[in-house]
Amino acid sequence: MSARRIDGTAIAAELTTKISAEVARLRKEHGLDPGLAVVLVGSNPASEVYVRNKTAKTAAVGMRSSLHTLPATVSESDLLALVAQLNADPMVHGILVQLPLPPQIEPQKVIEAVAPAKDVDGFHPLTAGLLATGLPGLRPCTPSGCVRLAKSVHPSLAGMEAVIIGRSNIVGKPLFHLLLAENATVTVAHSRTRDLPAVARRADLLFVAIGRPEFGKRDFIKPGATVIDVGINRVPADGGKSRLVGDVAFAEAAEVAGAITPVPGGVGPMTIACLMLNTLSAACTAAGLPDPAL
Ligand code: NAD
Repeated sequence: MSARRIDGTAIAAELTTKISAEVARLRKEHGLDPGLAVVLVGSNPASEVYVRNKTAKTAAVGMRSSLHTLPATVSESDLLALVAQLNADPMVHGILVQLPLPPQIEPQKVIEAVAPAKDVDGFHPLTAGLLATGLPGLRPCTPSGCVRLAKSVHPSLAGMEAVIIGRSNIVGKPLFHLLLAENATVTVAHSRTRDLPAVARRADLLFVAIGRPEFGKRDFIKPGATVIDVGINRVPADGGKSRLVGDVAFAEAAEVAGAITPVPGGVGPMTIACLMLNTLSAACTAAGLPDPAL
């Protein structure tokens, strides 16, 4: 391996320490008491792990969190009623409904039911519009984390060639807008892109978010490029066990790249740290305080 390993766990811990300090200061000086409500429907094991991590981290930075668990059989209207109740609760500053949802529930309806001021996931169309037009607002957590990781290697992204593989509403599209706001030159590639490796090799900054285990190979990487691997894929491992891999074949990509994020320990911890930051930010806005610039 010649690439520098970008330690998302350490970078997230640094951000989390700053968030904790800011939470303590705002509580002391302004009586601010930020609260996150997490809604979990059903018992998807991966979702349970994510939700546990998110509520534990919320407590660790000194913010309140409440977990609302609903059975997999819950009706769409009952879930929407819970979201309405959380929207109306002044002690709740951020609402996160863990996806995926069971088939009887239309996720878009739930995403649109969350009050934009409490939309700490950044998935509401209004939040997406604020980002696209460069207006202040909450920014989606995973793409924000990706940009922070890229900036840990290149403090200014201005003028850099960035390629994003994947165009989902959750990762690829918001990441496009965030990178544009950093003055990068951005290409978004996807499943219909012709000669994907050649497009990927244009990148000084390559972001891969497609959900295909170890899809990005050596021939995707321009020598010296910075690679941010968003993928989280569980694959079979020796002894009947399983392990997590990204969307990039780490070992071979690391021989060509200048810097690369591991999976796990790259984007994942940054997503949670950015969720904490969004919750604090939403609480500040609700209290008429300036956004913490962390
Ligand atoms: P998605 O399924 O919504 O979107 C996948 C995108 O990849 C689509 O735009 C599609 O066009 C593109 N794609 C699929 N196959 C392709 C191919 N063969 N070639 C080129 N493009 C292709 O996925 P998503 O929600 O954006 O998530 C992507 C990955 O990121 C998943 O592994 C997911 O688990 C992971 N993820 C991680 C975090 C985190 O916190 N680290 C957060 C969100 C998503």
